Amino acid sequence: MSQIKRILVTGGAGFLGSHLCERLVAEGHDVLCLDNFFTSQKSNVVHLLDHRNFELIRHDVTHPMWLEVDEIYNLACPAAPGHYQYNPIKTMKTSVMGAINVLGMAKRCKAKILQASTSEIYGDPEVHPQPESYKGAVNTLGPRACYDEGKRAAETLFMDYHRSHGVQVKLIRIFNTYGPRMHPFDGRVVSNFIRQAITGDHISMFGDGSQTRSFCYRDDLVEGMVRLMNTEDGFTGPVNIGNPGEFTIMQLAEMVQEIAGNNCTISHKPLPQDDPLQRQPDITLAREKLGWEPTIQLREGLTRTIEWFKSIDMSQYRAPTPNY
Ligand code: NAD
Ligand code: UDP
Repeated sequence: MSQIKRILVTGGAGFLGSHLCERLVAEGHDVLCLDNFFTSQKSNVVHLLDHRNFELIRHDVTHPMWLEVDEIYNLACPAAPGHYQYNPIKTMKTSVMGAINVLGMAKRCKAKILQASTSEIYGDPEVHPQPESYKGAVNTLGPRACYDEGKRAAETLFMDYHRSHGVQVKLIRIFNTYGPRMHPFDGRVVSNFIRQAITGDHISMFGDGSQTRSFCYRDDLVEGMVRLMNTEDGFTGPVNIGNPGEFTIMQLAEMVQEIAGNNCTISHKPLPQDDPLQRQPDITLAREKLGWEPTIQLREGLTRTIEWFKSIDMSQYRAPTPNY
């Protein structure tokens, strides 16, 4: 095994964070999982608590923290539109003040630090598919801006700490990722459609369902994230990580219904303001720099995710906000 590192994962109890913690614990690293449990709960990491190389810290990244670490994965931030729009000012604080706090720690500890950025950097894109060089089309005034602009400001802070203080930064731009352990009430499209299909509820289709997304399975995503962290010092990214397989939201609903074996009614609701009409990652850079590409296609990933949703007791999950 390579050298044991002390690694902080902020947002480590969340959907992606908990899988990342699992992976790093299995590699033998000393893992500090920090979370305020806004959109997650302890049950996501309870199976790790008995490992002597895992530690759980309840903390909010908008407040300073003082830890000694070698690497930081900064994932703390609500990711689902309904939840990040619930308290938009807090969302912006989480991205910006959270970035300042972890970057300060990285500077003091000389730690390598990775930022979980997002395809939302590209807004409602006019370039398709989206390469990292595309600067994006974000409405600064709209309801999604608290998240999009918060993440854009965080990218800026990362690059400024890199240029001003030589901090080793890595930026990953994550495209829609799904899989087991998504919060059943997080309001994102995959978790909503699956929950609705297996409980026999109406499928909540926003707009006519012709808007597109490209869905990446969580194991592929975590692999890409770790590979990026392990790149040579000077490489900062940003790097898109996502599955280029692009589907309309209507195609997604049909596939979920088919796999779940439940043909429930589709009920249409208005398309939310600034909802991007299309999204597909150009992953040329991830292929070149990380030797990465997705291995799990949508049908297989959805089958695994639906199995997991059928295995859980949804009454044990508290909806983070009423917006799901
Ligand atoms: P998630 O909501 O499951 O995880 C986010 C975690 O951050 C949760 O555990 C939450 O409680 C925690 N958190 C929120 N605010 C916090 C704060 N102020 N202090 C401490 N902890 C806080 O979502 P996820 O899908 O696992 O997303 C993880 C990261 O990846 C996020 O930064 C998100 O923006 C980014 N991302 C995810 C996707 C995706 O499709 N899953 C896409 C793009 C970017
Ligand atoms: N969506 C939908 N029904 C839902 C939730 C989402 O039709 O119950 C649509 C949403 O309008 C968007 C797409 O699915 O076009 C993806 O939404 P999600 O919130 O998962 O992520 P986004 O990529 O918009 O951040």
